[in-house]
Amino acid sequence: MTDKTFNSTTSKLSHPIWHSIPANVCLKHLNVSVNGLDQQEADARLATYGANCLPKAAKRSAFKRLLMQFHNILIYVLLASAAITAFIQHWVDSAVILAVVLANAIIGFIQEGKAEQAMDAIRHMLAPQARVIRDGKQLAIDGEKLVPGDIVLLEAGDKVPADLRLFSAHSAAAQEAILTGESLSVEKQTLPVAEGLPLGDRSCVAFCGTLITSGQCKGVVIATGAETEIGRISGLLSEVEILTTPLVTQMGVFAKWLTVLILIIAFLLLTFGYFVEHRDFAELFMAVVGLSVAAIPEGLPAVLTITLAIGVQAMAKRNAIVRRLPAIETLGAVSVICSDKTGTLTRNEMMVASVLTHPHLFNMSGCGYEPKGVLKIDDRDVSPAEHLVLEELARAAILCNDGALRQHENTWLAEGDPMEGALLAFSGKMDADISHEQSTWTRTDAIPFDARNRFMATLNHDHERHAWVFVKGAPEKILSMCCDQRTTDGKTEALDAAYWNDELESIAALGQRVLAFAVKSAPSNNTVLEHADIQNKLTLLGMVGMIDPPRDEAISAIAECGTAGIRVKMITGDHTKTASAIGKQIGLKNAETVITGSDLDCFDDAALRQAVIDCDIFARTSPEQKLRLVMALQSHGFTVAMTGDGVNDAPALKRADAGIAMGQKGSEAAKEAAELVLADDNFASIVAAVREGRTVYDNIKKVISWTLPTNAGEAMTIIVALLMGMTLPITAIQILWVNLITAITLGVALAFEPTEENTMRRPPRARDEPLLTNDLVWHIVLVSCLFLCGVFGTYHYAIDQNYSVELARTIALNTLVVMEIFHLFFIRNIYGTSLTWKAVRGTKVVWMVVIAVTAAQFAITYLPTLQSVFATEAIPFWDGVLVLGIGVALFTIIEVEKQLRLALQRTKRA
Ligand code: ADP
Ligand code: MG
Repeated sequence: MTDKTFNSTTSKLSHPIWHSIPANVCLKHLNVSVNGLDQQEADARLATYGANCLPKAAKRSAFKRLLMQFHNILIYVLLASAAITAFIQHWVDSAVILAVVLANAIIGFIQEGKAEQAMDAIRHMLAPQARVIRDGKQLAIDGEKLVPGDIVLLEAGDKVPADLRLFSAHSAAAQEAILTGESLSVEKQTLPVAEGLPLGDRSCVAFCGTLITSGQCKGVVIATGAETEIGRISGLLSEVEILTTPLVTQMGVFAKWLTVLILIIAFLLLTFGYFVEHRDFAELFMAVVGLSVAAIPEGLPAVLTITLAIGVQAMAKRNAIVRRLPAIETLGAVSVICSDKTGTLTRNEMMVASVLTHPHLFNMSGCGYEPKGVLKIDDRDVSPAEHLVLEELARAAILCNDGALRQHENTWLAEGDPMEGALLAFSGKMDADISHEQSTWTRTDAIPFDARNRFMATLNHDHERHAWVFVKGAPEKILSMCCDQRTTDGKTEALDAAYWNDELESIAALGQRVLAFAVKSAPSNNTVLEHADIQNKLTLLGMVGMIDPPRDEAISAIAECGTAGIRVKMITGDHTKTASAIGKQIGLKNAETVITGSDLDCFDDAALRQAVIDCDIFARTSPEQKLRLVMALQSHGFTVAMTGDGVNDAPALKRADAGIAMGQKGSEAAKEAAELVLADDNFASIVAAVREGRTVYDNIKKVISWTLPTNAGEAMTIIVALLMGMTLPITAIQILWVNLITAITLGVALAFEPTEENTMRRPPRARDEPLLTNDLVWHIVLVSCLFLCGVFGTYHYAIDQNYSVELARTIALNTLVVMEIFHLFFIRNIYGTSLTWKAVRGTKVVWMVVIAVTAAQFAITYLPTLQSVFATEAIPFWDGVLVLGIGVALFTIIEVEKQLRLALQRTKRA
């Protein structure tokens, strides 16, 4: 039994037909037992077979990526202009146009690299884990580290990490659409099937990439990476997502049509100038080229993509991983967040604090998951040994449990569900010997917990083949299955349902999660557990109440939602009273009214529509009801974010405008359905993502609000001069210069804007709010007119002073650039005041670009070589001050206009 025999029997060419031979033969072939490989062997196989990942699509070479930057109609137009200017021997002009094109390509190239990096980082954060058995122990490893022969455990919601031959399956089913196209789940079992059946019929094999939709199963890895069925038809998983959102795509289309419009205007002006005004053709042509280059927003698409990439990264830093990019946009518009309770609003660090038996209510102390603590009744210490029923309760808590406790240095940690960890700690405190119970009572079958049934059951045998069924679950559910109860001294008597109901409600009202335990003896030859076996005649042992304190960050995040006009709804599977108590603790507005899942089932659509407005807490809900709640909220026009973790949450997550899956406790199925994955399962991260979403949207808007008036202002300068038959106040080549230096500096700066101060104090924007709002169109018109006034005003002032035309143009040119800088500072705060210290201090990027542009302007104004190329002259000091003054004036006018507009809006709203 060495590596060699394994390699020779299962070399890639000569492995058996796995699906047509019995599972134990497969195990033998793969040289592994149900206890799994040992770590050394696994490492050796990893070296032989390579990582379990699909071959990645070869990345485009950097050169090709650079070339692709030129493939764009805006750029074609510019290149054509460069060619024509070269043809009429205006060498400097064509050089400047080419520089614009090149600078643009480089920015595009860099942003694409950045975007790819952002996406790669995210993909890495989403890499799935696999639960395997190695060295006889269960552990979670990176899916990529799986090797043939590994034993893998799967349960509902998992994504199959490699091709597996199953050798154990409990009501397991898988959704194999990505392989077979069949969207219905198919059942999975362990017996061999006929050789050569199509994939969809090979029911004893779980295929890599498919989703387990129900049940549990175990299998041995028969193929990894490119050898898997999905790997063979591959290409599938290696496709790259393009960094874009509907809005940015729309802007791309807008930019193209704008280009067409500009070309038409340019052509009309050319004919007008030539035939009506009889201007010199070469000069006229240059003016028209300058106008086109200035007006075409060639840099806009690239800058918007940078804005998105920065947003994706910012969200990832706040533990919110965007799976589908359009979600960035949607998140900014979210107006209702529907959140789970356990683990999202609370810490999911559970500890049993109350123990209820008939007729005693105990309190229990302790710290974390450490299995040490004191049991008390009314402040009096009691020993667990005094109450026989506690021993049985502890046994049920140990056996009906998939969790584990681990001691790491001085702290105790829970593996798996924290609630189950808490139950193990509880049984330790009851003086039970956990590993002894587990080895005495082996589990022969189980019905796993699911959110619909709200209970879990196991069938256990001891060495004398006595069989017991242990059940734990939501107390109402368990009570309905019980007919009698255990007394303190271990006898059985008829069930006193009223007692349990009263007591459990008072425990739940403290915010504790209550769980009930019951048992039933079973025939010793039973090895299969069916739902029918446990529907009635159970004996209730007792209940426990677990505290799970709310997260401090969740409390402040909910307060933030309040000011941001976002409603928060808690949707939980937990008890009404528990939900209401936690709701109060975290500051939900209306924590008194709670609607339960069964209430929801009785509501018609109209009642439901009303209920989702009036009520903030929904308890004892099932995943199907989440879907109805989402739809009811959407019917009011809300943009709904919904969290989920289980398989059954997938439809609601898909339906929600922003589906949010839990990264830690969430199933792969939920993650696949979601737009966003929370790395830390924390409610506060959702709110952080909304804040980033709003920031990205604002920045997109800012980039556009700065670019369009700037382009329009530059272009209008030429258009107006041509139409009026005036000399150009700024020459074509000077316009090209301005366009070049500002587009690669000022134009990019806004992508890096941080969140504005009052971002979370504004109501959410309407989902269908157009990007080019009336306000924005008005802003474009106003600012381009002010630019025109500034440019023509300073030009005429200079001519009046008897300055040369060259000097007058230099002054006008600098005025234009100064106005653009001041406009940039204005745009940084479209919702607040720009004249605060914080606003003026700005960001590093803003100041870097301002310094760069200023240096460039000094160079073109005062350096003799550039003066001769661009026909400029040195500006006298006091005229320089005037130029600066015009910038200040522009800033003042638009700032006052903004304040007026904001004040007006506020009075309208009031
Ligand atoms: P939540 O919305 O708080 O996450 P769940 O849907 O996870 O609620 O659970 C709903 C109820 O099901 C819980 O209040 C508890 O009574 C019961 N429950 C949860 N997990 C388990 C489990 N592993 N075994 C048995 N019962 C469980
Ligand atoms: Mg849960």
